[in-house]
Amino acid sequence: MPELLIRNADAVVTMNGAREEIAGGDVLIRGGVIAAVGRALQAPGAEVLEAKGCVVTPGLVNTHHHLYQTLTRAVPGGQDALLFGWLKTLYPIWAGFGPEEMFVSAQVGLAELALSGCTLTSDHLYLFPNGSRLDDTIAAAHEVGLRFHPTRGAMSIGVSDGGLPPDSLVEREAAILEDCIRVVDAHHDAAEGALVRVGLAPCSPFSVSRDLMRDAALLARDKGVMLHTHLAENDEDIAYSLAKFGCRPGQYAEDLGWTGADVWHAHCVKLDSREIDLFARSGTGVAHCPCSNCRLGSGVAPVRAMRDAGVKVGLGVDGSASNDAGNLVLEARQSMLLQRVTLGADAMSAREALEIATLGGARVLGRHDCGSIEPGKRADLAIWDVSGIEAAGSWDPVASLILCGPTRVRDLFVEGRQVVRAGQMATIDLPTVIERQTALARRLAG
Ligand SMILES: [Zn+2]
Repeated sequence: MPELLIRNADAVVTMNGAREEIAGGDVLIRGGVIAAVGRALQAPGAEVLEAKGCVVTPGLVNTHHHLYQTLTRAVPGGQDALLFGWLKTLYPIWAGFGPEEMFVSAQVGLAELALSGCTLTSDHLYLFPNGSRLDDTIAAAHEVGLRFHPTRGAMSIGVSDGGLPPDSLVEREAAILEDCIRVVDAHHDAAEGALVRVGLAPCSPFSVSRDLMRDAALLARDKGVMLHTHLAENDEDIAYSLAKFGCRPGQYAEDLGWTGADVWHAHCVKLDSREIDLFARSGTGVAHCPCSNCRLGSGVAPVRAMRDAGVKVGLGVDGSASNDAGNLVLEARQSMLLQRVTLGADAMSAREALEIATLGGARVLGRHDCGSIEPGKRADLAIWDVSGIEAAGSWDPVASLILCGPTRVRDLFVEGRQVVRAGQMATIDLPTVIERQTALARRLAG
C-alpha cells in the first residue's frame, strides 16, 4: 500500500482528545488512513512531503451549502434584499437550470471549498428543474475529489398554495419521496471511510407541507440516513412559524421527528434558550453560517450559548448567492468575529473557531472517522503555508490561520488522495471549469 510521510511541519494540529499541537510534527498516511502522528517518524520507502513553514490541520468540514448557487453570485436584484425578497428574485433564474448548470456550478463550488481547506462538504439541493438530479452534483464531487454528503432537498408548496417558490419549481410530494428512495439506494454508503453519504432535506418549513416533513423523517430513519433543513433563520422565519403553525420552529421540528443525533439544521440564528436546551438534550446539530447571516442581515446566531450548552455546531458557507464567497477558513474567522461583536473579545478564540471548522463539523455530520489527525482516522488533511505574507510576523502559527491567514491551502488530501497541490487543483482543470461556468452565467443573464 503506498505511504506518504508529511514531515517536519511547524505544527500539526491534531484535534485529538487532548487537543495536542505537535511542533516539528510528522503525519504518516497509508492508503486512505492516518497511520501515525508524531515527531521524527521513520517510514522507509514512503513518499516524503516536506512541511517546514506549514501548519497541518484536519481538513475543514462544511455543513451547509447550495452548490448550484455559484452560478448566481452577486445578482443585482438580490444583492441588498432580505431572505424572502432575495428568494423571489432568484427563483425564476434557478428555474432555467438543467443538469449541465448543476454539474458545472457544483465543480466550481467544490473547488473553491477545496482551495480553502475543506475536505468534507454537505450540499443541499432542493430544486430539480429541466431534468436536473442529485446525481449531477455527485458526479462533480467524484471528479473534484471531496468527501461529499449531498442531501436530496425538496419544495412542494408553490405560490398558488400560499408558498414562496413559483409553481414551476415545486414537485409533487409522492415524486419527492420516490426520488429520495432512489438516490439513497443508488449512492448512500454507510461504511466507515465513505466518500458519499446521502441525506434527506426538505428545503424549509415554509416550502413543504407538514406531511412531507414527517414522511421524510420516517423515511430517513428507515434508511439510516441523516436529515437536514433550514430552521429559525431570521425574524420573518419565526413570525411565519408562529402565524402558520402556532409554535416556534424548535417545537415544530420536535413534533415532526426533526430532532436527534441524525438531524442537523442550518442557521438557527433565532433559537431561544429552550430550543438550545432541546438541541443539546437531543443531540441535534447546527450548521452555523456566519457570512450568510451577515449578508442577509439575519442576525448573530447564539453560538457561544449553543456550545456552552453542549450543542454540536459546525460551519457552513451557505449558498454562493447569499455569501457570495465559498471560502471555509474565512467562514471560521467570521464566526469568531461575530461572537465577539455581541459578547466581547474573549467570546471565542481562534483555536475554538478552528475546532468548530474541523471536529465540530465532522460531529454534526456524524463522521466519527473524520475531523481529527489521529491514527485510524481518515487521511483528510489541509497543509497551510504560513511562511508567506499573510502570517509574516506571527508569533503563533496555529492562531494565525484564523487571525491572519493564509486563506488558501498549499496542499489538500482527501482519503489520502491529493486534491490540491502547491496551491492548485490537482484533480480537475480549473481554468476550463471556470470558463464553462462563465459562459453558463452569461447565457442565464441573457
Ligand atoms: Zn441555505
